[in-house]
Amino acid sequence: MKWAIGVDLGGTHVAAAPVDDRGRVYQVHQRELESHDVKYVISELARVVVRSIDALPKRAKLTGIGVGSPGNIDERTGTVRFSPNFGWHDVALRQKIEKKLGRPIKLLNDARCATIGEFIYGVGKGTRDFALITLGTGIGGGIVANGKLVLGHSMAAGEVGHHVIREDHGFVCTCGKIGCFEAQASGTALLRHALKLQPSFPRSTLLTGVPQVDWGSKMIIRAAAAGDQHALATWQAWLHDLATGLANIIAFVNPETIALGGGVGRTDDSLLATPLTKLVDEQTTMAPKHQTAIVRAKLGNNAGIVGSACLALHGIP
Ligand SMILES: [Zn+2]
Repeated sequence: MKWAIGVDLGGTHVAAAPVDDRGRVYQVHQRELESHDVKYVISELARVVVRSIDALPKRAKLTGIGVGSPGNIDERTGTVRFSPNFGWHDVALRQKIEKKLGRPIKLLNDARCATIGEFIYGVGKGTRDFALITLGTGIGGGIVANGKLVLGHSMAAGEVGHHVIREDHGFVCTCGKIGCFEAQASGTALLRHALKLQPSFPRSTLLTGVPQVDWGSKMIIRAAAAGDQHALATWQAWLHDLATGLANIIAFVNPETIALGGGVGRTDDSLLATPLTKLVDEQTTMAPKHQTAIVRAKLGNNAGIVGSACLALHGIP
C-alpha cells in the first residue's frame, strides 16, 4: 500500500493528513491561521505535515507530499502568481515549502486538487467528463475532460465562479465584476437574494437577529425546508441563478456528472439536486437534455486533503 500526505491550505486554517492509495484519510492535523504572512503560513504548514508524517503507520512507505493552495499557480515554477484570499503576489511557494521541509512536494490550486480527489475517489469515479462545483463563501471548481484535468494556458481553467451570468441587476462580486456566477449562486449569495427580496415580504421574520452572527445560508435553507415564504422565494431565485451557471458549464464541457460540494452542496436532494436538474434541463438547449447527473460531492471536508494526496500518489490526471 502506498501513502501520501495531503495538505489543504485554506484562508482560515491549514490541514494535513496521511492518505492511503485507496483514498482513506487518517488523523487530520489542523492549525488555525492568524495571518497570511508567507513565513508564518509555511511554518504552520510544516508543523501539520511533520505531525502527519509522524502519524503514518509503522513501515508505511511515504510516496510524497501534495499541497493544495488558493490562487493562480504557475505549475512549472511552483509560484503563486496571485492569491486574492491571501494577498500574495509572486510567492515561490513550492520552493519555500521544500526548503522548510527538506523534501520535494507537489503543488496545485486547491479547487483543482479537490476536483482530482472527487474524480478519483468520489462521485467522479468511473466518469471521463466531470466537473466539481463547490458552493461555499465563493464558488470554486474544476473540470475534467476526456479523463484529463483541464488546466488551461495559464492555469486558470476551472475558475467557473467568475463567468458573468447577470450583468444587469446582478450583485457585486468579490473580484469587482457584477453578476458573476459566484456573486449570484455561492452559499453567501443566498443571503444577498434574501436581502434583495425582503421588500416583497414586509412581515417576514427571516432576517431578524444580528447580521453576520445569525444570518447565513444554513438558516435560509432550514427556513425554506420548513416552508417559510421569504426563504422559499430566496431559494428559488438562487436556484435559478445556479441553474444558469450549470447550464453554461454543460454547454462548454458537456460533463457526465456535476458534483456539488461545499457546505450548501450537502443540502438534501429534494431541495437542491432534484429541482436544480429540472431547471438546468430547461436552460440546456444545444446539448442533449437529461444527460448530466447533478449530484452531491462525496468527500466533504476532506476533498482538499484527498485531492492533494492524489497529486503525490498519482500525479495530475
Ligand atoms: Zn467574480
